[in-house]
Amino acid sequence: MPEGDVVALTAQRLDAALAGRPLVRAELRWPGTGGAHLVGATPEDVLAYGKHLLMRLDSGWTLRTHLRMDGSWYVARTGTHEAAGKGAFVRAVLANEQWTATGHRLGMLDLVRTRDEHVILGHLGPDILAADWDPEQIVDRLVGTGAPLAEALLDQRAVAGIGTLYVAEGLFATRTNPWLPVAQLPRTALLRLVTVIRGQMLQAVTGGLGARVVHMHNRAGQRCPRCRSVIVRELARQPPEQRPIFWCPTCQRAG
Ligand SMILES: [Zn+2]
Repeated sequence: MPEGDVVALTAQRLDAALAGRPLVRAELRWPGTGGAHLVGATPEDVLAYGKHLLMRLDSGWTLRTHLRMDGSWYVARTGTHEAAGKGAFVRAVLANEQWTATGHRLGMLDLVRTRDEHVILGHLGPDILAADWDPEQIVDRLVGTGAPLAEALLDQRAVAGIGTLYVAEGLFATRTNPWLPVAQLPRTALLRLVTVIRGQMLQAVTGGLGARVVHMHNRAGQRCPRCRSVIVRELARQPPEQRPIFWCPTCQRAG
């Protein structure tokens, strides 16, 4: 499942291609959404909130999409083969005279009045990547989950945008045990943890995915780069919501 940094980078690409240019083509291949009244409207901006993408139009509508497990957006020059929007997995085609964005395998797609965005986003916690983020507020919400750290960090109602990769990397960087109940970690350590995760994610948002530093995620069976113990994979949450967490049982003992 894409992390918030991928969603933020996707929003940047879509914003660069679509914002400020009227749509000449709009197809939403999703039950209940035709997209007909999007043609002629101009996207004002495309932004990320946690793992959700929001395209706000000057007509007062917001298109919300979510990448879920394996969704992605592609941008190509209008008129090219790549911009045709063919294929069974294409769920959305949005084009202006210059650029065409196609959404593939999207996991969620809604068209709502911009003033009603809170109806579809109101359950989410603060966005970890928001410019005006408040670490104290995020820590309060993490503590409020009463869950183990790994599960609290994945809980989008507590903090939006963190996925399994940054849970693993943030906990590794701070030498923290994923299964420790949130409330057992000192507040200063929780503040440091969310600050570290945000810093790791921002590094990828500004430097691209090549700038991601990955030590633990998907490395089960390999050696921990810090202590040379074997990295293990364990599951957070209950079926069908289980997610893999990678960690080092030797050097992640903090708390
Ligand atoms: Zn280790």
